[in-house]
Amino acid sequence: MRCSTTATPSRSPATNAACKFWIGNIKHAATVGMVLARLVVDGQEQGHHWFRVPLRAKENEPPLPGITILSSDPKGGIQAHQVGGARFTGVRLPREALMARYSRIDADGRFSSTLPDANARFVRSIETFVQERVFPLSAGARAAELAAHLTWRFAGHRGDPPVAGPKGSSERTTVPRPAVPGPAALPRASWLVLDVLAACREMCGSQGFHSHNQIVTLRTDFEVNVTFAGDNSVMAYQVARNAARSPAFARPARTLAERVEQDLGELWRGRPDGSFTHDEAVTLVHARMLGLIMSEHDSDPQVPQPIMDDLVADFAVHRLGAVHRPLSAEREKIDFLAELLAPVPEIVSAPMVDDGYLAAFSRPA
Ligand SMILES: Cc1cc2nc3c(=O)[nH]c(=O)nc-3n(C[C@H](O)[C@H](O)[C@H](O)COP(=O)(O)OP(=O)(O)OC[C@H]3O[C@@H](n4cnc5c(N)ncnc54)[C@H](O)[C@@H]3O)c2cc1C
Repeated sequence: MRCSTTATPSRSPATNAACKFWIGNIKHAATVGMVLARLVVDGQEQGHHWFRVPLRAKENEPPLPGITILSSDPKGGIQAHQVGGARFTGVRLPREALMARYSRIDADGRFSSTLPDANARFVRSIETFVQERVFPLSAGARAAELAAHLTWRFAGHRGDPPVAGPKGSSERTTVPRPAVPGPAALPRASWLVLDVLAACREMCGSQGFHSHNQIVTLRTDFEVNVTFAGDNSVMAYQVARNAARSPAFARPARTLAERVEQDLGELWRGRPDGSFTHDEAVTLVHARMLGLIMSEHDSDPQVPQPIMDDLVADFAVHRLGAVHRPLSAEREKIDFLAELLAPVPEIVSAPMVDDGYLAAFSRPA
């Protein structure tokens, strides 16, 4: 038994003309694609499933019959891989192409699944995207860390030399990371990374624009993380829609993050149509993320409590609309954070970190 493809864009009738754009590495390199598609067996819709679809016999060879590769190049940001689109026209697959953790098609073409219905199968299919979302989170944390380090080193050229010197140091500590990445974590973290990169670039003034100083390049490379693997706003709306329908906890709120979530939930449930605004949805994902960071800190503190208090207060002012409270930027705290955020030396190439940077920069061209 073999399956064959028909593409159905949104709710229009089946067609062979639909295509999927912006697929990483498909233009020249990919030999196999993982395709999420609706499975129809004997005319009956069985929900979304993953299929392993061979695309070309070898890297850089033409696509297999029935597959048309289209170009999305040139894209902005990370230059190391190509992107493209794919159109399938009656592509035939063996039944083994169906990823079979939950669903199977036997040799007689009978479908069976351990999941009860199409909705459950869709949710399980989408869950496999978690790793796709962890990857931008962890890469984003490294980018923010690097930009903060470069900015701290640049501050040293302006008459306030850094005391701890992490450049070249092989010892490193890790920044707290979210324990449960998912729809709430990706939007907040990837927006935050862009904010950190923009703030660092600005604090380095014109030197932040120097292409060799990495920050502008990081910004271009990481811009895509608010769109790829699920648009940030759309994911924020998903989180808000769930929160509007069912409160996350029944007890009184214990933390700032919980208070924000509770207030928003009550506000939304009080509206006749249960609607929410974009800004409210974004505030909710910020609150969820703050909740995760705070519970990580409670179970495994990586910064002293006064620094954590500063982080929470700063976050609350900028993301949750809390009342401003002055923060004290003491030397001890700055040195601690400089050490904590020291990137691995291998990823630091900006000449801006060198002590003689300004002298080298002002030499005659
Ligand atoms: C460099 C790059 C690499 C990629 N790699 C891959 C890959 O390897 N594999 C893959 O499958 N895909 C890949 N993608 C595609 C990516 O997942 C999609 O681009 C992404 O999910 C956003 O979809 P879209 O581009 O259609 O934007 P749209 O969904 O059209 O979004 C455009 C705007 O509309 C808004 N919007 C959308 N829906 C709603 C709504 N319901 N309500 C309100 N506002 C809404 C969004 O917030 C956004 O501001 C890649 C994309 C890029 C840019």
